[in-house]
Amino acid sequence: MNAVVRYLRDVFSGAWSLAMGMSVTLRYMFKPVSTVQYPREAMPLPEVYRGHIELRRFAETGSHGCVACGECFRICPSGVIKVQGLKEEADRPNRAVFYFIDFSRCSLCGLCVEVCPESALAFSKVYEEVGVSRYSTVVDLIARLESQGA
Ligand code: SF4
Ligand code: SF4
Repeated sequence: MNAVVRYLRDVFSGAWSLAMGMSVTLRYMFKPVSTVQYPREAMPLPEVYRGHIELRRFAETGSHGCVACGECFRICPSGVIKVQGLKEEADRPNRAVFYFIDFSRCSLCGLCVEVCPESALAFSKVYEEVGVSRYSTVVDLIARLESQGA
């Protein structure tokens, strides 16, 4: 193959490649935009999205509903839950005073959410949780709930 033929083949191949690329660009130019400008914009999360575990806030009390029964603690396969309850008066039900969970070792299996007899736990919709040390992933869910206000 002489140099002229090779040259013409390269020119044609380059032009064909450019035309293909431009056709893709033109095709997508008139379609709805499917990217978002994160973090200024966010995608709507699906209903089944599983963020980290959190204590639900009950509208009637404005607080959590954990009675520190320990069911979640016992069923957790990763052993990442620690819960402590307190009876303020003898005839009052037990109430959790702290509820520690280590997010770094939670597998989001959902067993704790399913087993809770008080429906006190839920998956959050949080996906931007970050930590700067191993200890920052150990969180007291009660303190967190209280810090978020009513
Ligand atoms: S989701 Fe699973 S691993 Fe995570 S705390 Fe609950 S039971 Fe444990
Ligand atoms: S979160 Fe539910 S299962 Fe776990 S200790 Fe509290 S009431 Fe019991």
